[in-house]
Amino acid sequence: MGKIGFWQLLLDDRVSHWEAQSINAAHDAADHAASTAEAAQFKAHNTETRVNNMAREIVFLRTALTVLVKTLKDSKVLDERLLDARLEAAIEEATASLPKLPTGPVSMNEVLASKQGTPVSVKLTCIRCRNQVPASSTLMSQDGPMCERCPA
Ligand SMILES: [Zn+2]
Repeated sequence: MGKIGFWQLLLDDRVSHWEAQSINAAHDAADHAASTAEAAQFKAHNTETRVNNMAREIVFLRTALTVLVKTLKDSKVLDERLLDARLEAAIEEATASLPKLPTGPVSMNEVLASKQGTPVSVKLTCIRCRNQVPASSTLMSQDGPMCERCPA
């Protein structure tokens, strides 16, 4: 349903002025939301295109480098082991100057492992005295958790 125009509003008794205002306001809000979503989609698409282009360039560079190194090695004009050692050292140096990768946990296992180090103190409510007590100091009775101070 489109916006309600001035003439439609004037000629149609079924639409009160107030209703028309509300409908038009809702229409504007929907328009705004749609254009915001569109802008976000456009940004995401741009980023994807850039990442794809970079991935393609990396493939080109890697191929060129591989061919170059292989040709150099085959031509026997240089010491293969020396080249390898130099490459390794240079790559190590270059990697050191790269921005650090985020240091958070990278897998669910790591998250679990880090959680085990710090015991979580779960509190339970004793069914008898209604006190909040550490779960480790409760006994599970038929009716629920009960603290040590409340003998069954
Ligand atoms: Zn208790």
